[in-house]
Amino acid sequence: MRRSVCSNRSRSATASNTRVESILHRAECLAWLAHPTRDETQPLTTARPMDLQPVQRAAYAPAPFESGTMQQQENVEYTPPEHLLTQIDSCPLCGSKKTSLARTERHNFPPDEYFRQYSEVPIRLKRCNSCDFVFVDALPKDPNFFEHQYRQDRDWAYEFSFHGKVAIAQDVRRRILRYVSGGKLLDVGAWSGTLISGLRNDFEVHGVEINPHAAAYAREQGFDVRTGAFGTVVLSDIAPFDVITFIDVLEHIPQPGGIVEQARDVLRPGGLMVIKVPHFAAQAVKQTTLQRLGLSDEGVAQNYSHINHFSPASLRLILEQRGFDVLEVSGAQVETWNLSAPASTAVRATRLFKNIARGVATETLNGLTRLGVPCALNIQAVARKR
Ligand SMILES: [Zn+2]
Repeated sequence: MRRSVCSNRSRSATASNTRVESILHRAECLAWLAHPTRDETQPLTTARPMDLQPVQRAAYAPAPFESGTMQQQENVEYTPPEHLLTQIDSCPLCGSKKTSLARTERHNFPPDEYFRQYSEVPIRLKRCNSCDFVFVDALPKDPNFFEHQYRQDRDWAYEFSFHGKVAIAQDVRRRILRYVSGGKLLDVGAWSGTLISGLRNDFEVHGVEINPHAAAYAREQGFDVRTGAFGTVVLSDIAPFDVITFIDVLEHIPQPGGIVEQARDVLRPGGLMVIKVPHFAAQAVKQTTLQRLGLSDEGVAQNYSHINHFSPASLRLILEQRGFDVLEVSGAQVETWNLSAPASTAVRATRLFKNIARGVATETLNGLTRLGVPCALNIQAVARKR
């Protein structure tokens, strides 16, 4: 059995986490210093991305983010527009008001009348000085914002069978079966049903999904996936559960602690909780590097896609604070192409190359994470309800 990152040595691991993230952050600062800086006295942009033609939009690449440890950033005064955003003054995880600026980014919304109003608002990520949780410091007031964000339609057959989540589902299954087999499993954020499909022979599987198109596709495949936000969907006819999974979900949801509490309430005593999320420090370095190389203009939080950002310590904390014993925190699987997907030879060759590169990178970073150097791009916790 693999050794977990933090089991039985949370204090030393937390100290190690802090040291490594400090090193990662210094590397981030060096990258920042090596790059021409943006004039902070100028407005973020005078042109809205939605006003531009596609070619022009391609040129509208957000400026590289600036590290929050830089003095210039600490001095930036910014007040979110009150009619649009609610300021988050305290850490959503532990409630502390002692925070520091971790990062600033810009949005890059697709052309859409609804999102236009948010396009020029900078994103500021704050780090809680007490628990290491990183969060976007102002969120849309519109209670329907995230439903609007997550109701897009896609090629669901492709998402179900060929998207990189198949590899993630296989890894999550292996981890769950280390601790429990049989019973009822609820996948929160079930998407088109890939995870529960992989677990259908091991558990009685159910799902909750906010995207109505994704949920409908999963139901067409024969799965009980209920449409709506977790906490609003009726589950009383099937609860309690033996396992609840949040795979790439908690980074998207306001008040993640409240969601974990709601999940605990429908979990049997001794039941298993599995949470997979991106690892902030490693993702920040990755996106910075890609930006510097001109390979990506994405940030870690743009368009309010990822509003919560975890470290191994804060992932452990969100569970321990809410009545769970953490069994393991470790590096997690990344998305890889399913090479059986229909595509040209050239595309398949490219996907194979990407899979190899991602596989090598993931194994290396996850291996270092197992040795106590938490640099995995994604982290995963397995915990048992007390
Ligand atoms: Zn905190």
